[in-house]
Amino acid sequence: MGVKPIVLKLGGSVITDKEKPLTPDLQAIERLAAEISRAKVSSLILVHGGGSFGHPVAEHYDIPGGYVDPSQILGFSQTHLAMTLLNSWVMEALISYNIPAVDVHPSSCVVTKAGRIVNMELKPLKKMLKMGFVPVLYGDAVLDSEKGFDILSGDQLVASLAIKLGASRIIMGADVDGLYTSDPKKDSSAHLIDHVTLEELKSLKHKIEGSKATDVTGGMLGKMLEVTFAIERDIETVIVNATESGRVYKALKGEKVIGTIIEKGEKVG
Ligand code: ADP
Repeated sequence: MGVKPIVLKLGGSVITDKEKPLTPDLQAIERLAAEISRAKVSSLILVHGGGSFGHPVAEHYDIPGGYVDPSQILGFSQTHLAMTLLNSWVMEALISYNIPAVDVHPSSCVVTKAGRIVNMELKPLKKMLKMGFVPVLYGDAVLDSEKGFDILSGDQLVASLAIKLGASRIIMGADVDGLYTSDPKKDSSAHLIDHVTLEELKSLKHKIEGSKATDVTGGMLGKMLEVTFAIERDIETVIVNATESGRVYKALKGEKVIGTIIEKGEKVG
């Protein structure tokens, strides 16, 4: 049996300037590549978000609304293209730090049904992990068996990959220190929750919100809803601030780090 992989998500808000279209944060991308390289994780899958690349284009063509007009077909292509542009900045940084990263494009290996993953080609991913590669996926425009197409969030991908590939842990790299009692960008009295169980998370849901900037896939609330599926299967999830130097490194090493740990937290029997 192989080593259980860690699934690391780099949020779109972390690796791009979410307010400026098509603007990568190259400093953040390079620093994160250095942290990932230094952590020397034996089995790792990376997923990144769309930030100011995928979301504005997807919104313009209403890709999340599904296929209703032929003009959206080119919009699908443009959304995917925008994501491959961001992805290539990430790939270049990772490989320059000697991380054997290989990009895996969700648009060509995932089909959703009403927005939920129903088919995912796992064989290449499993083989890559076995050989020591680091597969890199991202939120993307994908084909959908009911709607024609849809946007697949990086967050849904993270949970699905973690479950299907038997991950040991999920690390969500965000632009805030973790999960707060309410949106820390709007509420100065919000405080960080360092540990939460699924049960406690359910009662907090009404205080967690979507994203401020253009984001077609739902902010912190969307993230929590997705990771719930993995946590239910006992995959521990930690949210850390990936804009702060060293936090992703510590999380990858399993060291104590500022952030939020979410666990199933139920007693068996
Ligand atoms: P990304 O694009 O990096 O995946 P998002 O911008 O979609 O991340 O979601 C993260 C944002 O969710 C944070 O920047 C924060 O403003 C917002 N948010 C809303 N409610 C909360 C909460 N209770 N705790 C933490 N963040 C929250």
